[in-house]
Amino acid sequence: MALVHSALWQSVLGEIELTVSPANYLTWFANTELISMTDTEAVVGVANVFAIKQFEVKFDELVKKSLHNNDAPVQKIVYRVKTARKSVINRETTGSSRVDELLADEPRTQKPATSSRSPKTPANSLNPKYTFENFIVGSSNDLAYTACQAVATNPGVKYNPLFIYGGVGLGKTHLLQAVGNAILAKNDGSRVVYISSETFVKEFLESIRFKKQGFSDKYRNVDVLIIDDMQFIAGKEKTQEEFFHTFNALHQANKQIIIGSDKPPRSIPTLTERLRSRLEWGMAIDIQMPDFETRCAIVQTKASMSGITLEQETVEYLAKNIKTNIRELEGALNQLLAYAEMRGITPDISTAEGLIGNIRHSRPQHITAKQIIDKTARHFQIESKEICGEKRDKHIVVPRQIAMYLLRSELHLSFPKIATELGRKDHTTAIHSVEKIEKSIKLDFLIREQVAEIREKLYA
Ligand code: ADP
Ligand code: MG
Repeated sequence: MALVHSALWQSVLGEIELTVSPANYLTWFANTELISMTDTEAVVGVANVFAIKQFEVKFDELVKKSLHNNDAPVQKIVYRVKTARKSVINRETTGSSRVDELLADEPRTQKPATSSRSPKTPANSLNPKYTFENFIVGSSNDLAYTACQAVATNPGVKYNPLFIYGGVGLGKTHLLQAVGNAILAKNDGSRVVYISSETFVKEFLESIRFKKQGFSDKYRNVDVLIIDDMQFIAGKEKTQEEFFHTFNALHQANKQIIIGSDKPPRSIPTLTERLRSRLEWGMAIDIQMPDFETRCAIVQTKASMSGITLEQETVEYLAKNIKTNIRELEGALNQLLAYAEMRGITPDISTAEGLIGNIRHSRPQHITAKQIIDKTARHFQIESKEICGEKRDKHIVVPRQIAMYLLRSELHLSFPKIATELGRKDHTTAIHSVEKIEKSIKLDFLIREQVAEIREKLYA
């Protein structure tokens, strides 16, 4: 009996190996087994608890199909951790009901089995490295993943526009581009355009300034328009107007529009009412920070994509200690791999501890208020005493506000203390200034850059 299972499973795996990328095969499939099977149901053992979700959401169809091809027409597959490990986390709520709901009248479709993509990128500025295949699914992002897949399968049909929002480094751009890449993989004649709203604004303003023709046609004659970082269109009324018309033209022609943003349409400030209502026509879905299991899965996959198998404890150490976003998690992993490679050692938990400890403590603790004021002043080419003075000229007020903001964010000074450092008695200005910069950082690319540059100089 067990032997029969094992032969069947080998054949299933052999088939799957031809479909998925080597890294995916190694990470997810190599270590699996068929535990038991009835006429209708198979129980598949997978390597660890965070593999379960990947199988349920990403590979279920593939495994089922391959079982069918091997004369095992099961209707349902249950995924279970193979060997009893010390901490088996209970996963009865997988969030898949949300997915089922979303897909109620959507045929579950197999992703196109192309691991090699067409290398034609520059025209649409899609990056071929962002695919569905290497996107890890967890309950923080499964809804977004599923909606994006539905759109890639049937562009322009169901969720139009599809609006994906969430904090930085959580995979919005990855998903948005994966849609574009999947559509091109199926039909490389499709006109797919990916553009950030900043570029849209810039091109639009240039077309007005230099009286260039053809801007509106450029984006109204596509099959799929993907606009990323929509929040940057806030406050740009003329551009919003232009985008509104682009939106209408595409929507009327049943062309797909996909939008990424750090917040939902209703929270993007100074969005004209009619554009906001357009953006709310379709489906808006948020992405959140993945839970611990998903973070483990991400670390594990990314390591094996670099050809390295990390020990479980190392994977867990990284996932436990980096909770900000996936970009940073990836950064830490890359640092670990590079460090180990350079020294010819195996990247293990103690190497990881050393490195992450370093990342954490790399900020010197001895920055002073005076340094913040001086560096800010120098950055803006004004005098420190102007920052501490009373003048209300704009070229002084903004640096002053930024200095106050940095005193708060870097040194955690109280508002009265901030006021004192700038030679003031009243601390309400400090409160307003810090609030103002906090807000501007979110909305204004320039301010964000300035603050980041000064901060870099502080810690250089
Ligand atoms: P955002 O656009 O939300 O700021 P990105 O899409 O640029 O974030 O993601 C940051 C990095 O993290 C990218 O390298 C991306 O590939 C990776 N990433 C994010 N989420 C996932 C995921 N679920 N699976 C695999 N990689 C991910
Ligand atoms: Mg992005």
